[in-house]
Parts: sequence; C-alpha cells; structure tokens
Amino acid sequence: MRDREGLRKLRYLCKRIGHRLSGSNGLSRAVDWSAAQMIEDGLANVRKLPVTVPHWVRGEERARAVAPERRALTMAGYGGSVGTSAGGLEADVVVAASFEELEGFGRDRVQGRIVLFNAPFADATDRFEGYGKTAQYRTQGASRAAELGAVACLVRSLTPSSRRTAHTGAMRYTPAVPRIPAAGVSIDDAEWIARMVGAGRTVRVRLEMSARWLPDAQSANVVGEVRGRELPGEIVVIGGHLDSWDIGQGAHDDGSGCVASMQAAALLMRLSLIPRRTVRVVLWTNEENGTAGAAAYRSWIGDEIRNHVAAIEMDMGAERPAGFGCSLPPGAETAGTVLARLEGLLDPIGAGRRLHRGGGTDLGPLIGAGVPGLWPVSAAERYFDWHHSAADTIDAVEPDGFRRNLSVMAVLAYVLADMPGRLAGPQA
Ligand SMILES: [Zn+2]
Repeated sequence: MRDREGLRKLRYLCKRIGHRLSGSNGLSRAVDWSAAQMIEDGLANVRKLPVTVPHWVRGEERARAVAPERRALTMAGYGGSVGTSAGGLEADVVVAASFEELEGFGRDRVQGRIVLFNAPFADATDRFEGYGKTAQYRTQGASRAAELGAVACLVRSLTPSSRRTAHTGAMRYTPAVPRIPAAGVSIDDAEWIARMVGAGRTVRVRLEMSARWLPDAQSANVVGEVRGRELPGEIVVIGGHLDSWDIGQGAHDDGSGCVASMQAAALLMRLSLIPRRTVRVVLWTNEENGTAGAAAYRSWIGDEIRNHVAAIEMDMGAERPAGFGCSLPPGAETAGTVLARLEGLLDPIGAGRRLHRGGGTDLGPLIGAGVPGLWPVSAAERYFDWHHSAADTIDAVEPDGFRRNLSVMAVLAYVLADMPGRLAGPQA
C-alpha cells in the first residue's frame, strides 16, 4: 500500500504514451515500454509474443443537429463501424427506447432515417450487470436499425451519468444486413433529441464519419516472470489488457490492470518474496476489438495449460476494490481453504468479499480449459462515467484505489503461487 512506483508507471503510460487501440502507434510504444519496464524490474523471460490484430481507425467524425435548431452533438463512433460517404449524411431521427419499440414502428417509420436508441443504463444489482444488459444497443443496434432501412444508428452512451461525455466500444454487423454507421452520443444529447421528438418536433441530424478498416497490424502480448523457487514450471498468470480505446488514455481500462500486474511482480522481486511457483505477468493485446491476444496466448501455451495453476486479470478499473471474483472448475476441493485465507488477507483493505460478478475477457480461453480464474472486483461507483470515453484519463484514477487494487493483485498472485497444493485445474 505504500508503493509509489506503480502510480509513476501508470502516469507514464497514460500521459507519455496515451491511448492504445490495436494497430496504433500508441499500442506499439506501450508494448516496447512495458517489456523494457519488466526487464528493468528484474523479471525473467521477458518476451513480446507476436499477435496479428485488426486495425480500425476512427478518422474524423462529427455529428450535429440541423433542425429544429443547430446544435453540436457529442459523439464517439463505434469501433468497427463503417464511415459515412465523404460528404456525410443527413436524415431525420426516429427515437426508440428498445428493440421492441423500434420493431413496432416498422419499416415505414424507419426507412431512410437515423435511429436513436435512447435506452437508459439498465437497473441491476450492480453496475457491471447493468452494463451487460444495456450493451446490446451498442453491439447490435446498427444492424437491427438497418434491417428496417435506417441509414445510421446513434446510441445513448452506456453510462449511468454524464457530463456530456460520449462513450465508444465495439459493435458488430449481422451478415447480409447493410452496414450503416454507428456511434454513441452523450446522454444529454440523446435526451434532448428524445424530448424534441416527443414534443412533435422533427430532429434532423448531419453525421460525418471517416472511420475505416486498414489491413491487419502486428502487435504483441508482453510476458515476464518471477520464476518460482520450487516449482518454476507451474504458473500463476496475472495481467490486464494493454490495448485501449482511442479516446482518453485508457487509464482505468485497462492501463491500471496492466501496471498493477507489472508492479505486483516488481514488488515480489523487491521484497524477495519468491513464491514456490512462477508468477507470469501477461499483458494481453486487442481485448477491446477482437481478443486476438487472448487467443494467441492460449495457443502459445498449448499443452502447458496443464501447468497453469490460476489466472488473474484486473479489468474493472482502479476504483476501490470491493472484493474479488473467482471461477473454479468442478472438483476444486482445496479451494475453500485457500479462498478463506485470501478473504482474511484482503479484508483489511476492504477487498475480502467474494463477489459473483465480472471476470476478465482475456481469461475466457483459460477458464474454458479448466484453469481457476480470479479477478479484483471494483466497487464501480463511478467506473462507467469514465469507461470508453475521453474522461478515462490518469486524473480519474484515485491513488488509494489504485494501490488497493495493486495489493489485491500481489496478494492473489503470491498466495496462489506459494500454496503447498494447487486448486484443481486442467491436470485433474
Ligand atoms: Zn477493459
């Protein structure tokens, strides 16, 4: 908790390197920088494992209302969206609060229009669940609208609150449905449009986006190790994803997870806390728009997945952690004692509760093969205010929250790498 070096690294990543979308110069620089940091911190077997990643670029983009009054709209094109034609497009807006409502309008009211999905951030037991429920408008909205003849799709940003921020994220097109441009707009703008249309006014919007796909690019997962003192062949993975969206600095998502992982390993080295097994830091690439890094890591380890004792990913932001989550394969008999020990160790910093939510995307292929997966669970009081927006900068990271997450990562990694037995896994 007294560490200062982690925050210094996070500041460097955010301010000097900046955002890091797949294919970008920022991501290449972050790969080189993090590998150099790991070497400087004394980690072993530092490697950049090549990964081919998709390369989408946002280009210039702009949205504005031209009727009933002129008004600039705060927008962020969705990752993977096509652009508009060079001159942009202009159309009247039809507002729907749900897919069902849009279906109800039918082709007559949607054809040739811009559809705005104005669905509020869903009520749920926690913010991550709310996000999961609302994200369908971002991921599928464009194709659902295009099926009814829409020419573009705007989506109310996926956040519970807004300071006129627009939030981006990945979307996908349904095969054989015309591909129309898609973008998030701020809650404030979505509400304004909905109010105007609700009052019987015609809202006409002009949208210009030069987003496009470029040929695939080369990137890498960055790996480095604290070699175990007794069973170096057995591995506990800790990591985050090095890529980020191309607005903001990717500070919470997921610079904080990457730096917390690197720094947890650096602290084990500095404190001479060399566990029985190897702690392997993995900074995955391309989590945001493709998950090529997670797939490449899985194929790189091949049969060695049997030696993976646990995998931990931090990807819920650097706010104060409220606990930790885990996903265990059936038959993990020893897990109860180990998890109780972790709860006790993390309790003093408020992170000792086991919570059933979230889980890092990059852990998917490992958990799917039976590796126990764990992750810090953030309180997420404000995470979605920043998530995927220009506001996700180092200024939004509260030092104490970051340090608590770093502590959770270090404790999870050390305990799981040092315990006498292992949780049941792919070897069982
Ligand atoms: Zn993330």
